[in-house]
Amino acid sequence: MKLFEGKISAVTGGSRGIGFAIAEKLAEQGSGIALCATGLERAEAAAADLAQRFGVKTLGLQADVARAADCEAFAANTIAGLGVPDILVNNAGITRDTLTMRMSESDWDAVLDTNLKGAFLITKAFSKAMLKKRGGRIINISSVVGQTGNAGQPNYSAAKGGLIALTKAHAREFASRGICVNSVAPGFVETDMTAQFAEELRTRILESIPLGRAATSRDIAQAVLFLAGEGGSYITGQVINVNGGMFM
Ligand code: NAP
Repeated sequence: MKLFEGKISAVTGGSRGIGFAIAEKLAEQGSGIALCATGLERAEAAAADLAQRFGVKTLGLQADVARAADCEAFAANTIAGLGVPDILVNNAGITRDTLTMRMSESDWDAVLDTNLKGAFLITKAFSKAMLKKRGGRIINISSVVGQTGNAGQPNYSAAKGGLIALTKAHAREFASRGICVNSVAPGFVETDMTAQFAEELRTRILESIPLGRAATSRDIAQAVLFLAGEGGSYITGQVINVNGGMFM
């Protein structure tokens, strides 16, 4: 028996990177998957790949989590196509890195709108149906820098720190309906997001990781799988750090 047979999961930013690894782990364990990204073609291809490999029902949809109308449409189409999710993963995120004195207002807004407001809008869009279902898991993908801060990432650090606070607020709001809300905070993960880092920065980051290596997307997905499953049934409002010891 697979862990998530008969369950439905919705994953934002599920077309590649960490989001895809999370969707892949959930699908491997039998969950139906709705995933979204701003790029439709890649979202559809990711969903088709999971359906083909794991024999689960999937939906790959276009949605920009920074836009309320897109979030509502993603929730409505997910519920109509697969059913009400048991597991919701707010993973979509972007960076627009530079020092505060050089940062444009639009780079601040884009990162806050996607990484923080996006999680609020998506959770709001699914909340009525999930609360009615009385049970489930919401997992928000934050970051180590949401706890430590990072020079050159004022927007991203603020958004990821805010996401941890949002996680705790939603944990308190949804607890009476049996919904656990937690955050997973990765450290340095090899994905498209970090692929353009200069060699010098990469070396400096790797030197700061006690376990001596970058995370893979699968390392992060394993923690999400734990929270989504039986093991997560009495954990709520927490931040699970998956960072190789980068921040303790
Ligand atoms: P990634 O490789 O850049 O993938 C990001 C995913 O999010 C893609 O599927 C992307 O698809 C989607 N996306 C971006 N903006 C979106 C929007 N407005 N609406 C819907 N989907 C959107 O990033 P990643 O490294 O896997 O990161 C995933 C999450 O982990 C992010 O929240 C990130 O902040 C967090 N994280 C990453 C690291 C790391 O080292 N990589 C560390 C800590 C935390 P489209 O481009 O088609 O929209």
